Amino acid sequence: MTAQAAAAREHAVVIGLEVHVQLETRSKIFCGCSTDLADAEPNTHTCPTCLGLPGALPALNEAAVAAAIKLAKAIDADVPEETRFHRKNYYYPDLPKNFQITQYDAPLCRDGALEVTVADETREIGIERAHLEEDPGSLQHAGGGGGIDTAEYTLVDYNRAGVPLMEVVTEPDFREPGEVRAFLATLEEVLEYLGIFDGGRDGSLRVDANVSLIPESERSAGGEVGPDALAAANRTEVKNISSHKGAEKALAYEVTRQRNAVERGRTIAQETRHWDESRGVTVSMRSKEAEKDYRYFGEADLPVLRVANWVEEIEIPELPDARRERFRAKYGLSEATARKLTATRAVADFYERVADRFDPDLAATWVADTLLGELNYRDLTIADVEGRLDEFVGLIELVAEGEITEKNAEEVVLRAMLDEGDRPDVVVEREGLGTAGGEEIERAVAAAIDENPEAVADFYAGEDGALNFLVGQVMGATGGSADPGAVNERLRAALDDG
Ligand code: ADP
Ligand code: ZN
Ligand code: MG
Repeated sequence: MTAQAAAAREHAVVIGLEVHVQLETRSKIFCGCSTDLADAEPNTHTCPTCLGLPGALPALNEAAVAAAIKLAKAIDADVPEETRFHRKNYYYPDLPKNFQITQYDAPLCRDGALEVTVADETREIGIERAHLEEDPGSLQHAGGGGGIDTAEYTLVDYNRAGVPLMEVVTEPDFREPGEVRAFLATLEEVLEYLGIFDGGRDGSLRVDANVSLIPESERSAGGEVGPDALAAANRTEVKNISSHKGAEKALAYEVTRQRNAVERGRTIAQETRHWDESRGVTVSMRSKEAEKDYRYFGEADLPVLRVANWVEEIEIPELPDARRERFRAKYGLSEATARKLTATRAVADFYERVADRFDPDLAATWVADTLLGELNYRDLTIADVEGRLDEFVGLIELVAEGEITEKNAEEVVLRAMLDEGDRPDVVVEREGLGTAGGEEIERAVAAAIDENPEAVADFYAGEDGALNFLVGQVMGATGGSADPGAVNERLRAALDDG
């Protein structure tokens, strides 16, 4: 290894994120246009305000501010008594006003943090700030392969213009791409619990990642990276990342690219790069713009907003980490099961409904393994069957009360419920799944004992397999509709009497 190559290995990786999160509101942030853009024709969710027509004025959406304050509380951020908006000026075809309304010197959140766990190690990632802003429109590059740099022409759709975003800016606290992936998953989970985010929406999470390498000589004896080293480092900003996995891949690529450059004795240019997902590479877009390039100035069409009293009034639900801990303590669940059952608020809420009525372990097996497994197999989530949760509770009840066997519940009833939309009682009736009643089992037990004297003798001789053999006979005689536990019990009782 050359000295330069060795030095490149010694460089510490530093990553900081700017995450754009779409807030779940019914209308856009400064006008009344609907944010329900799924299947919408281009340029149909627009009005003079979000098209930036002369004279149209913005009016702030209260729900967007409330959502931002919920996030602030969840990440333990400081919310100023007053907040305000600025204009960030730049020209781009997706931005009809030629400025974006955003926040600058008084963002809604400052100095928050989020804990992430990677390989059992928990680290705190600082959140420098989070602010509200409007989304620009979207561009569609067409012809010439559709690449940003090869397209023949570009179409613009202003449906997205004015969709409320929260930009979350982290401290440069990440030391490897895997931490970024874990952070994004944690952030999404928190946002989803707060009810202000829908990860299923197209473009609901977009990430710009800043990356630099800090030579060993610029770190403290303990290996820490100080503010001077951070400021001195040339960094690249990778744009166009839209998933957790994409973030990890883009960053792994970018770290390797920078290491290779350092190994060859080249300097890293301070620039903005574009993550090309399909090719799995980052490509240079432009030299990095500086803040002064944007000529920020106050948005005079929106008054200063006093939020001090909102912060007290707005409440947030129990967050994922706290809920996981409570599930472990209250229901005695393992870490892994608690994690599965708190992955979304809908799953956790459903589990609690079931656990309140049945044994928590039985409820956990049903929800975490059986139901989530079958849903997952069909690419569905609890949210997709939210309106039918009573039916699923009803199914578990049928099993708990011994009306149907667990096997039939799982393999016949649940599947018919999901595939055909049937109610559980309807399936049980149609398929004749009701467990064999007492009398029928009693008759089958007596017959099994009569017809198998050898097995009975073996049972009295203490042979383990004998009882199982007899259970099998009874199950066969009742066409598998008896509950094996009940058969076992009655056989034992009959043999003990005999
Ligand atoms: P800018 O002026 O480019 O917006 P900021 O100080 O606002 O710079 O930081 C933007 C992002 O860059 C933040 O996410 C921050 O964590 C990250 N960042 C700052 N310094 C570094 C660095 N040396 N390496 C990687 N990321 C960094
Ligand atoms: Zn509008
Ligand atoms: Mg910045």
